[in-house]
Amino acid sequence: MMGHRGKDFAELYASIQPGLKQIIGTTRPVYLAPSSAWGVMEAAIRNLTQKKVLNLCCGAFSDKWYDVALRCGIPAEKIQEEWGNYIKPDEVRSKLAEGGFDVVTLVHNETSTGVMNDVAAIAKVVKEFPDVLLVVDTVSSLSAVPVKMDEWGVDVIIAGVQKAFALPPGLNIFAISEAALERAKSTPDRGYYFDFLEFEKHAINNNTPTTPAISIIYGLQHQVRGMLAEGLENRYERHAFLNAMVHNWVAANGFKHFAPYGYQSKSLTAISNNREIDVPAYIEAIRAKHNILINGGYGKAKGITFRVSNMGDETVETMSEVLEAMSDILPGFI
Ligand SMILES: *Cc1c(COP(=O)(O)O)cnc(C)c1O
Repeated sequence: MMGHRGKDFAELYASIQPGLKQIIGTTRPVYLAPSSAWGVMEAAIRNLTQKKVLNLCCGAFSDKWYDVALRCGIPAEKIQEEWGNYIKPDEVRSKLAEGGFDVVTLVHNETSTGVMNDVAAIAKVVKEFPDVLLVVDTVSSLSAVPVKMDEWGVDVIIAGVQKAFALPPGLNIFAISEAALERAKSTPDRGYYFDFLEFEKHAINNNTPTTPAISIIYGLQHQVRGMLAEGLENRYERHAFLNAMVHNWVAANGFKHFAPYGYQSKSLTAISNNREIDVPAYIEAIRAKHNILINGGYGKAKGITFRVSNMGDETVETMSEVLEAMSDILPGFI
């Protein structure tokens, strides 16, 4: 490993900035934190909440954010949708109109339920309340679908690299708006490790507050180069096409979607177990014969859904292999 306070690291850091800014849709610097996504998801509410946070909840990850706020001692309220549902902008407006909020958290792609929320529509509503900042988890959507932080008016974008970036875990990319930076300046008790002001101070010198995950950042440089070489639009189209392949399998095999039409994720598919198969046994049989692992549902959606990812480096060939394996094993289970 190189030392991280030298010229070589600054070059590595600087080399990926243009690509990351394009992927996030921002002119602001992109920070790199040595943690999984939750490090910065927790940091965002600690750096920005001075009054009360509104957590928009519709699945495991978004629900957890409310729990994390309470654990941090941050005043919090939530809008709770049933798992499988999406966040409705009108309900966000009604809740914010009650007053007292200064931060909203939203999960773009609820990986647990396969629901993709309409960030642009929700951001527009949040903008009606000038003192409220919008924090968005794009962990399983960033680089798989367009994200437009500045255009949408999002204040914080957060993504771990182990989902659509197809990298080993342990690194988090995030960007914050000028308004979020200003807010953080007057928020007490931000701590040190995840202090947004520390990230800003070091980003100016192409560096990080503490020792970065250098090895994963090399991987990130490789992946970002690959994304730009493929072309972001082509990358989004590839994800949409591979996702449609999974949707075709769902329809052809008599299954339904857990997420409602219009809000189905493009990076993974949560399939409803409407045919009442033994999901754990089905998944184990696919793994045993084909050495392919699909997911048997997250948290309380275990058994009532199973999930197939098409994000990252998947291709028509790899997804065909997955779907053929699923088809091969299915007859024994229905
Ligand atoms: C995987 C995932 C996380 C988990 O974050 P980690 O801290 O990296 O485990 C958070 N949010 C979403 C939407 C996810 O898909």
